[in-house]
Amino acid sequence: MPELPEVENVAVALREHLTGRTLTGLKVKCTKVLGQCGTATRRALLGKALDGVHRHGKYLVLNFTDGKRPDAQLMIHLRMTGQIFILEGYIPDKHVHLIFDFDGLPVHYRDIRKFGRLLLVDDPINPTAIAHVGPDMLLVRFNEWHRRISHRKAPMKALLLDQGIAAGLGNIYVDESLFLAGIHPLAKPVDLTRPQLQSVLRVCKKVLRHSIKHGGTTFMNYTNFHGKPGNFQSKLHVYGRGGEACDVCGETIERIQIAGRSSCFCNNCQPL
Ligand SMILES: [Zn+2]
Repeated sequence: MPELPEVENVAVALREHLTGRTLTGLKVKCTKVLGQCGTATRRALLGKALDGVHRHGKYLVLNFTDGKRPDAQLMIHLRMTGQIFILEGYIPDKHVHLIFDFDGLPVHYRDIRKFGRLLLVDDPINPTAIAHVGPDMLLVRFNEWHRRISHRKAPMKALLLDQGIAAGLGNIYVDESLFLAGIHPLAKPVDLTRPQLQSVLRVCKKVLRHSIKHGGTTFMNYTNFHGKPGNFQSKLHVYGRGGEACDVCGETIERIQIAGRSSCFCNNCQPL
């Protein structure tokens, strides 16, 4: 569920609160969320300080250093329900699987579905583990993005969700971006003019930036680094609003399945 804006907010908070702090402890309550065993994770990271947080799409890569041993990198992918936070006086419940101790500051990793992963990787910017992931959605230029989608026959909804084309969008921001660009989710690249495609990419970036500014979207259980929900859900036009009236034209918002995902859109504002 956390998409680019929610992950970006976590990245900003990790940089702000943990940069320069040494990891002095790591309690592992469930190894399933680790990409390697607890011992290997501790051996790589303990005694090293966080000195960089890089975000690529929905992935975070934390760089740890002690100036002596080689640096180590931990990649975090929150997937469906992963949360990472500091909360004063917080008593961990059964969904907290990891507790990082940053020089006396406890940082909790909580994940109800346990689909999230924390994996040691080989590079702070371009780890091999995500070599298959396309450029970040906020950074990709139109020509490159266009080259990656123009020959594809899938509907725009599926192409925008495809992390191999560009990384960061999930169901929420794809539905919202297509609505704001006035593009039907089943439209294919070949159906659209170059200005329409330029508008889609421009709107996607705008929606992502707008959501980052509003602290992201909380639909299920996303909370920020301080345990607070985001505010962007109040600004959603179509996502999760199937059967309700479109707030622009009043038509009923439709909900259909595309590429196995539910898609909400307004047939009037987004004609095919
Ligand atoms: Zn409408």
